[in-house]
Amino acid sequence: MACPDFEDLLREGGEHAAHCEHCRALLEAAADVDATLEGAFAGVSAPPALAASVRRLGAARGPSMVPEVLDLIGWAAVLALAAVLLPRFLPVIEALRG
Ligand SMILES: [Zn+2]
Repeated sequence: MACPDFEDLLREGGEHAAHCEHCRALLEAAADVDATLEGAFAGVSAPPALAASVRRLGAARGPSMVPEVLDLIGWAAVLALAAVLLPRFLPVIEALRG
């Protein structure tokens, strides 16, 4: 990321880009890509049955388990970290309490 204030660009949009050369160039490039894609695919539309097919496919497979598994791994990591750190800091906490 060229600009350290990129988050400003996301929050303020054009206001940030007005005084930031990097972000102005980024917005212009994005607008170019947008215009090119719109020009190239303006006459193309998805077949009417596509949306229904995609919905059927999603319903047949059921929701993905990946987010739940990632959640579980994340919580396991947090608990493992707590199990390692807590015994180390208990004496410090006890000492601070008096
Ligand atoms: Zn910027």
